[in-house]
Amino acid sequence: MAHTRRGCGCALAVLLVVLAAASAAYFYFQRRTGPQLPPPSGAELSVHVLDVGQGDSILIIAPGGKTVLVDAGNPRNGKKILAALQRSNVDHIDLLIATHAHADHIGSADEVINGITVKNVLDSGVPNATKNYEDFLKAIEQKGVTYVAATPDQTFDLGGGARITVLAPVQPFFTKDQLRSGGNEPNANSVVTRLDYGDFSMLLTGDAEAQTEQRMIQKGARLEADVLKVGHHGSRYASSEDLLRVGKFKTAVISCGADNRYGHPSPEALDRLKAAGVKLFRTDLQGELTITTRGKSDDVQIRGEREAASQELWAGRAAQKDDSARSGFIQYGDFGPAPKPKDQSKKATNSK
Ligand SMILES: [Zn+2]
Repeated sequence: MAHTRRGCGCALAVLLVVLAAASAAYFYFQRRTGPQLPPPSGAELSVHVLDVGQGDSILIIAPGGKTVLVDAGNPRNGKKILAALQRSNVDHIDLLIATHAHADHIGSADEVINGITVKNVLDSGVPNATKNYEDFLKAIEQKGVTYVAATPDQTFDLGGGARITVLAPVQPFFTKDQLRSGGNEPNANSVVTRLDYGDFSMLLTGDAEAQTEQRMIQKGARLEADVLKVGHHGSRYASSEDLLRVGKFKTAVISCGADNRYGHPSPEALDRLKAAGVKLFRTDLQGELTITTRGKSDDVQIRGEREAASQELWAGRAAQKDDSARSGFIQYGDFGPAPKPKDQSKKATNSK
């Protein structure tokens, strides 16, 4: 699989600017600085961490019926994601958040946009010269979806007392020279958001790692939440002790694939999460994870499609190759062939 195409960066940047300029004014439920969180309506809010193998796709259904999809899995996950939406009687997406431009997060974004009405897209605004990202932007343009570039403190009122707030990326964007070995700009500039509904809150981190966590802590971002969507599929470079201390999370959910070659989730990250005393859920072992709440933080239900023993949950995976000495994005060819996937949907891609 070769998703990278060189030489189209300028065209993409121009397209991004045009999309942003054309649509920014029309975004009806976006506010730069949100008012006080409205009281919860008491109706149910649900969060579905879909099982898309080694990638992310998270559906939020707000109490008033507004819907958010955070990422759209890998290429070839389109049917699965659209089927999950249908199962939950979702016939449109109010806000599609593309945390960053890697194929395991926007892989099927074009299929979702072409398959169901998507009203708004929130993107990191970091240009990316890949065919996947280009297809995503083309679908946005062709379907007339409103494009919004993420900035800290933007809020999106989901109705019924639920709200999304953007915490990152923080400008100026991280550049390659600022990143640790093995780190990369799309991950470091991931869109990080928090979901609030009454007392309930969830932090959605994309593939942000410790450097991004540190920057948010320094900026005084509100990181404390009931549930953490663990950064970067449980990479050892994410979920730092500092984040876990500030976040005071009760539950952590990891979205990753059983056949991944990156060592996700890593034993190191799991050790830190365990030391922080969180309850752990994993899509690779438990399938789709569903979180429901009526806005009371002491009344939150979380369940997986399947049971997994505690011992199994806390066991990390080993990377097929050590990436700590590498700089830049870890390319597909840097790893050997993936272990044989159990089914088509769990096939690894060129992103991590
Ligand atoms: Zn990823």
